[in-house]
Amino acid sequence: MFKKMYLLFIGVLMTLLLAACGGNEDAQGNSEKLQVVTTYSILQDMVKNVGGDKVEVHSMVKIGANPHEYEPLPEDLKKTADADAVFYNGLNLEAGNSWFEKLLGTTGKDGEDAPVFRLSEGVEPKYLTSKGKEGEEDPHAWLDVSNGIKYVENVRDGLIKVDPENKETYEKNAAEYISKLKGLHEDAKNSFNEIPKEKRYLITSEGAFKYFSDAYDIESGYIWEINAENQGSPDQIRQVVDLIKEKDIKVLFLETSIDARSMEAVSRETGVPIGGKVFTDSLGKPGGDGDTYIDMMKWNIDTIREQLNKH
Ligand SMILES: [Zn+2]
Repeated sequence: MFKKMYLLFIGVLMTLLLAACGGNEDAQGNSEKLQVVTTYSILQDMVKNVGGDKVEVHSMVKIGANPHEYEPLPEDLKKTADADAVFYNGLNLEAGNSWFEKLLGTTGKDGEDAPVFRLSEGVEPKYLTSKGKEGEEDPHAWLDVSNGIKYVENVRDGLIKVDPENKETYEKNAAEYISKLKGLHEDAKNSFNEIPKEKRYLITSEGAFKYFSDAYDIESGYIWEINAENQGSPDQIRQVVDLIKEKDIKVLFLETSIDARSMEAVSRETGVPIGGKVFTDSLGKPGGDGDTYIDMMKWNIDTIREQLNKH
């Protein structure tokens, strides 16, 4: 008799507990939404565009910060462990201190069947050329919008794989977004036409513009080639100062996700002004300039064109 009562009591308790949990709800009660994690903000925006109201997306690296190196927070570990899908760039981007690889290991997302998707899949890689880095991939493929379109197709395919029920929504959202990106890419290709070829030179701190340069027909130069190396050493400063003099470059650019001091030193040394900011590894702050992938690319193209025209 006692045993029977006890079992009944346990049974009631379990029912109450299950009812209280209500499945997989988070603090906002978004039990229906697919939980997605991206490594940085540009990918977060792409996933939002394709996923629409079906997804909730957490970006680990915050706006204005550098995705080459990152120290995941407890929140990132929890969200990655719980994620239905994880999207990253690859091409040697999230490589500093192997932060992303370690994170996947810690959160059990390193298995072969884990829902982890490399968005640069299918992109033709470009390689670093600076000493000691030769042959390593350059990660900044998204700065050529035709590559950005490949990223978006990979987002679409990844979301469909983990959530086939909403296939039609993801296909429709992706198609609309891709058609905007195609328009942007076509406009960008003609952006620098009116600027004489010898004036088409883009100097930034990090050499993030290899893909952009090829796609949009503008030369680029830098202080250091990739953020995962010495930044702004005297040797690097001297080399870019020589280049600026040799090519008679009239204006310099500064990235929003990079410390200004090295470019300011180059500007002082050459007397060439810093004409504006550009977005490379991060979106702008929400509500401000460049707060989506499309807007950051438009901002970059407009700023570079205006500044090259003006000087
Ligand atoms: Zn970078």
